[in-house]
Amino acid sequence: MLNGKLDRGIHEECGVFGIYSSQLADLAPLVSFGLHALQHRGQESAGIALNRDGVFQTIRDIGLVSEVFSREKLEALGQGHIAVAHVRYATTGADNLRNVQPLLINHHKGSMALAHNGNLTNAYALRTELERRGSIFHTTTDSEVIAYEIVAQRLRCGSIEAAVSAVMDVIQGAYSLVIASPTKLIAARDPHGFRPLCLGKRPDGSIVAASETCALDAVGATFLRDVRPGEVVTVDENGMRSDRSHCGIVPRSMCVFEYIYFARPDSVIDGSSVCLARQRAGAFLAQEHPVEADVVVGVPDSGLDAAIGYAHASGIPYAIGMTKNKYIGRTFIAPTQSEREMGVNLKLNPIRSVVEGKRVVLVDDSIVRGTTCRRTVEMMRRAGAKEIHMRISAPPFIAPCFYGTDIDSKKGLIANQCTVSEIARLIGADSLGYLSLEHANLLTGEDTGFCTACFGGEYPTEIPQSGNKSRFERPIHEDEQES
Ligand code: SF4
Repeated sequence: MLNGKLDRGIHEECGVFGIYSSQLADLAPLVSFGLHALQHRGQESAGIALNRDGVFQTIRDIGLVSEVFSREKLEALGQGHIAVAHVRYATTGADNLRNVQPLLINHHKGSMALAHNGNLTNAYALRTELERRGSIFHTTTDSEVIAYEIVAQRLRCGSIEAAVSAVMDVIQGAYSLVIASPTKLIAARDPHGFRPLCLGKRPDGSIVAASETCALDAVGATFLRDVRPGEVVTVDENGMRSDRSHCGIVPRSMCVFEYIYFARPDSVIDGSSVCLARQRAGAFLAQEHPVEADVVVGVPDSGLDAAIGYAHASGIPYAIGMTKNKYIGRTFIAPTQSEREMGVNLKLNPIRSVVEGKRVVLVDDSIVRGTTCRRTVEMMRRAGAKEIHMRISAPPFIAPCFYGTDIDSKKGLIANQCTVSEIARLIGADSLGYLSLEHANLLTGEDTGFCTACFGGEYPTEIPQSGNKSRFERPIHEDEQES
């Protein structure tokens, strides 16, 4: 739990969505559908920037998509040609209103709206340099650093897409971007391809860019292809074109945790089904950590497919043995410890008739601090489970992530401090087994190049001194403060 909020321990990063229509169209309701489909990637704020004839209008606020986008507000936006949108979980910068995306920038050559998923690893250095040269930042996000760098390059480059491509030589880390200029939609993905980004086409010819294919489905778009790591795709009145000058310059490092936990199971990322990857994780777990048991149960939601995979591979029957109350969101605030304890029971509840008197294989996606897992095991015991064999469809978290999640420090990661058998004892399980790193690399069927840094400690890029998501909240140059 963080700040009294019910919490599963690790947060998604953000979701981005963009659409280009050659005709004026009612894009705002479509965008809200797309964001609803991406809600799992960020529940703290939502926003849209709609471009009509080069003039941007925005709706941006703290809250879920359904809270931020009322029908009246969407209708008031009217029609447009291009829109970009964002759901956010704050990986850099606090979750206050000024940090809500898309960012809207007016600059010498026009205007631009930008939505970013990921985290720069050199944002602090870039921002410090920009501030020394007089730049004034309005947010505490690394996304504004990207916007400043694009604007700076735009003054030198002949087009916005050339500016985005040039910025790829400057910014480092994880970024999937959708950008609207007065006449263009741009979708760009960092050369490592840490975060997903895909393209689709609606029957009316409009082109959609989105973090996940589930958002394409939500707006009736047919999947065209993924944006390649390092690619800049531009859509305008001349159609769609691509700059691949940054493709293939570094090995691919797609976040493996997108497949294990972040993404929706109905999404297909870089050609691989998330659902099937999770089932494969469960099958690997059954191979690596077999056990005699009566039933396999998954912790909803992201443990379910892995549990099915475990059951198929082991021959132990699968059953739905735990329900999740989908109406208790992450915004549920529980001010006292006892209310928080009760809140966990509100969110997850075992099905007694399924688990009572049984030896249960309980499959979940991760253990971060161990507190949530301990409560889940306790619940199963209270519901009468005779034995609980915990199986985790990811390797142990031992290192922070600098690429757009909130695991920003080793502190508190239980696997950093305890052995597997110690963790089993602490969470109250009869046995515990994690997916091996070797098998995590094979979740999509072959070793296609994953980032597994938080499980293995080997980072595909240089990393910053600190991953603290609030690092821009405090004074950066104390020596330069006014006396
Ligand atoms: S460090 Fe972990 S969570 Fe972060 S991008 Fe790599 S695999 Fe994903």
